[in-house]
Amino acid sequence: MYSMSKIAQVTTEETLRCGAQWLASANLRPTRQRLALAALLIGDGEHRHVTAEGLHAGAQGAGEAVSLATVYNTLRAFCEAGLMQEVTVDGSKSYFDTRMDDHPHFFWEDSHTLTDAPAHQLEITRLPSAPEGAEITSVDVVIRLRRR
Ligand SMILES: [Zn+2]
Repeated sequence: MYSMSKIAQVTTEETLRCGAQWLASANLRPTRQRLALAALLIGDGEHRHVTAEGLHAGAQGAGEAVSLATVYNTLRAFCEAGLMQEVTVDGSKSYFDTRMDDHPHFFWEDSHTLTDAPAHQLEITRLPSAPEGAEITSVDVVIRLRRR
């Protein structure tokens, strides 16, 4: 799946229930705000790539009074709990991904959105050696796109 999922703008009993399960799977306390954000992120079962600003806008659309700082801290907590991973595109902006396996990304330069790229088409045959005294911890693949 590499289609783009917009951030949900509404929470329902069903998406809140999914959000609660998601938090419970990581032993995170289901505060009201965490629940609402979790429901918006994964409540419909789709994977999402969000920025703190984008999720904040979605939360406001859903009538959730939550500050941008709280959204940001909550996304960080979700990452620390192993529920999400952070993808850095250009160093200035962080994207947060609900999909946890290693996979490459497309970055759409015109809309500043991140989508999954087909992992089976990626082949990395050789990497530069890590410098003396260092080891490679991960390789992030972000393919930047421009529409023609
Ligand atoms: Zn992804």
